[in-house]
Amino acid sequence: MKKTAKWIRRTHVFRRDEYECSSCGAKTDKPKKVCPGCGLPMKGSKYDPSWVEEVVLMDMILGDD
Ligand SMILES: [Zn+2]
Repeated sequence: MKKTAKWIRRTHVFRRDEYECSSCGAKTDKPKKVCPGCGLPMKGSKYDPSWVEEVVLMDMILGDD
């Protein structure tokens, strides 16, 4: 079984952007390779083109376990 999560970017008016784990909701100020909260490897960052997220979404829908 291989699980991954991705960062959801939260922008704030008075604070720096945060990145929230799509799996456990842990927040960090920088997108890391592994979530500090749940330890899942993260797919997707600000460097990825949008189609990558769609592929990840497909992967989540299809399931791989
Ligand atoms: Zn997490």
